Amino acid sequence: MAPNSDSSPLESLPNVALKQKRALPFFNQHPWVFTGAVLSVKGAPAPGDEVVVRADHGKFVARGLFNSNSNIRVRLYSWNEEVALDREFWDERIKTAVSLRSDFIQNEETTAYRLINSEADGLSGLTVDRYGDWLLVQFTSLALAERKEILFDLLEEHCSPKGIWLRTEKGIRDLEGLSISDGLVRGEEPPRPVPIKENGLTFLVDVAEGQKTGYFLDQRDNRRAVARYTAGHKVLDLFSYSGGFGITAAVTGGAESVTCVDSSKPALESAQQNATANDVAEKVNIAASDCFKYLEAARDEGAVFDTVILDPPKMTRSASGAKSALRGYHSLNDLAVSVLRPGGILVTCCCSGHISRDEFVRMLSGVATGSGRRIQILESRGHAADHPVSPNCPENAYLKCLICRVV
Ligand code: SAH
Repeated sequence: MAPNSDSSPLESLPNVALKQKRALPFFNQHPWVFTGAVLSVKGAPAPGDEVVVRADHGKFVARGLFNSNSNIRVRLYSWNEEVALDREFWDERIKTAVSLRSDFIQNEETTAYRLINSEADGLSGLTVDRYGDWLLVQFTSLALAERKEILFDLLEEHCSPKGIWLRTEKGIRDLEGLSISDGLVRGEEPPRPVPIKENGLTFLVDVAEGQKTGYFLDQRDNRRAVARYTAGHKVLDLFSYSGGFGITAAVTGGAESVTCVDSSKPALESAQQNATANDVAEKVNIAASDCFKYLEAARDEGAVFDTVILDPPKMTRSASGAKSALRGYHSLNDLAVSVLRPGGILVTCCCSGHISRDEFVRMLSGVATGSGRRIQILESRGHAADHPVSPNCPENAYLKCLICRVV
């Protein structure tokens, strides 16, 4: 592999031929060529090497990066024969991603956001989050990890961070055959925690140890949207993590009280710190509990809330698990409805990519029927705009957030 070699001419590159009738998605710019679509490989590319992908009859499809260790055998980046995957190419992609965020996302009120969202920014296998002056990089592709020095150089050039921190999602090392160590890769160590602004509020983020990349940036706009409904409300924020929804409801939404429930102690400590940082500690209660058990106990005691927020973790990682996950969502939503006053607000989220928005709505229809309560969907929302989705790779749209009134 020669990641630093600039502009390999097309003729010098190894060729990957696709099976007959398997090329259409890739002519349509889907970026993942799975092993099953590959007919043959000529030229013995090493993992990480640039290759040319062709249809079975030899027609050029795209330039991509090869990985014999991964089920995604080739990730595609350039659909133009003339445009090689060199430093100039990565430079243009990173510049374009940065400009989306500087034009529309970053301002005095919001200093943390997803800076690069993999496929949707034309950079399959690279995720970068900005937390104030620090960048947090995650590679989900071996080939981009092998080009890390170029990519770090470009990130420094375009973003001038104080430091860059690397984290690798669980399981990715095995899926891609990656061997990289997490930690500081450029500049200064980030403080623990890093203070950030979101919708004008302050949140303290542990980029090294916090869940996901330290904070759930994808819910930023949903937190603000929910706050429009919570004036004077008694709010139950379930699966609260560091309190993003509940604290925004207390500060921006004028909620009377907020109870944050999570099973993780560090998450709740962080929620407590965030409540204090935003001067709403006296309104925010913290409960360490399994959310299902918490709701059952609340229902049995006859507790009543004006707003209930449900933001559970992914309930399935595979299509085959979707049915049983939907049963899990049903019982959770059914319990939530049982502690809501008539006319109360239910915010119900689903981040399982294998469950569609339609299926999620059908689940909610079952909850309405079973509970005898009428549910009105007021807003059907997704991720914030720093998590764009490519129409060529719609499987990246995972987040559903429904704001409902329950009569
Ligand atoms: N709402 C949060 C993000 C939630 S992520 C925000 O706005 O930032 C999901 C959270 O659910 C995690 O904090 C995890 O610790 C917690 N969790 C997972 N399973 C749980 C369970 N059964 N009961 C309570 N909390 C749970």
